[in-house]
Amino acid sequence: MMPITAETQLRLAGIPNLTVSTCTPLSRYTRFGIGGPADLFAETASPEAFAAAVWEARAARVAVMVIGGGTNLIVADSGFRGLVLRYNADRLSAEGALVTVESGAVLQDLVDFANRRGLKGLDTLSGIPGWAGAAIYGNAGAYGHSLHERVERVRFFDGEQVRFFDNAQCEFRYRESVFKRHKDWIILSAELALTPDDPVSLEKISADILKVRNEKFPPTMKCAGSIFKNFLLRDLPEEVALQVPAAVVREGKVPAAWFLEQVGSKGERRGDIRVADYHANLIYNDGLGTARDLRALIADLKQRVRERFGIEVEEEVQYVG
Ligand SMILES: Cc1cc2nc3c(=O)[nH]c(=O)nc-3n(C[C@H](O)[C@H](O)[C@H](O)COP(=O)(O)OP(=O)(O)OC[C@H]3O[C@@H](n4cnc5c(N)ncnc54)[C@H](O)[C@@H]3O)c2cc1C
Repeated sequence: MMPITAETQLRLAGIPNLTVSTCTPLSRYTRFGIGGPADLFAETASPEAFAAAVWEARAARVAVMVIGGGTNLIVADSGFRGLVLRYNADRLSAEGALVTVESGAVLQDLVDFANRRGLKGLDTLSGIPGWAGAAIYGNAGAYGHSLHERVERVRFFDGEQVRFFDNAQCEFRYRESVFKRHKDWIILSAELALTPDDPVSLEKISADILKVRNEKFPPTMKCAGSIFKNFLLRDLPEEVALQVPAAVVREGKVPAAWFLEQVGSKGERRGDIRVADYHANLIYNDGLGTARDLRALIADLKQRVRERFGIEVEEEVQYVG
């Protein structure tokens, strides 16, 4: 990869409908409030401008990173040497029970949109922060449901052209999709097949969930929700599975928090980075935390679980830089 030249900067600035800035602090764009500057930061709601920006960056051999709402990112203190791109088109539309969402729509707006129209399928995703594109990328979910259950078709840019994948082609699994393995494939929009239902009861389900979630994750908390993925009970080695109390297993999953609690993570601190004292898998920035401390604490917790149980807790958060 090459450093950004004034020429590349000028070429990007010349792309219609693309907003470009330089030396942009990424801490402003992450819920952790952590992260140094991106050499270049660009946003657009136009797929053509987005593609043009990717092509310019590629021609100049400049690294590209796409982000959404920044709620699941740990950005290095030194920032990102290259171009950070956001695709912020956020249109929502419905034809019968088929809802189309553009990637830059806030996930909660999508949930509210569907609920109001009496369309069931997204109500339990209420309160998951971030944008719709990243929610598909990471197959976001909660309360026993994930977005993949409703995905009919995804429209994405593969670096060359715009393509469509049906649900099977997206290879969804727990917090996984084919897009996680092809970081240069950028989701532009998705079609979701929902089911007609009563709007009042859907809105109530979502409001109740939001209330519980806001107590667990106060909206001002600088965090990424759960740092580590939960485990599927069936994937654990038998001798480990036998140690897990039946009461902690939910919908076939063992919370990573259970393992973290056994190695004493609750309340742990490293600089201004803390593990919540009520949730062993919730790490937050309690002030002026750094990515360096955050990464060190994560590495330490992983090692302690590895030594005690012989298993790897795997990050749900994504690293930048
Ligand atoms: C308080 C809190 C609670 C949370 N609870 C949950 C929960 O219950 N369930 C859950 O699943 N998650 C949860 N999360 C994690 C987070 O909300 C989700 O991962 C969310 O989908 C991230 O969205 P984002 O727009 O902020 O993505 P970002 O953090 O900006 O990006 C995440 C990843 O998505 C990629 N990406 C972004 N946009 C695109 C795109 N258009 N195409 C391709 N790749 C893209 C990025 O490259 C990056 O790797 C929680 C987070 C917080 C802060």
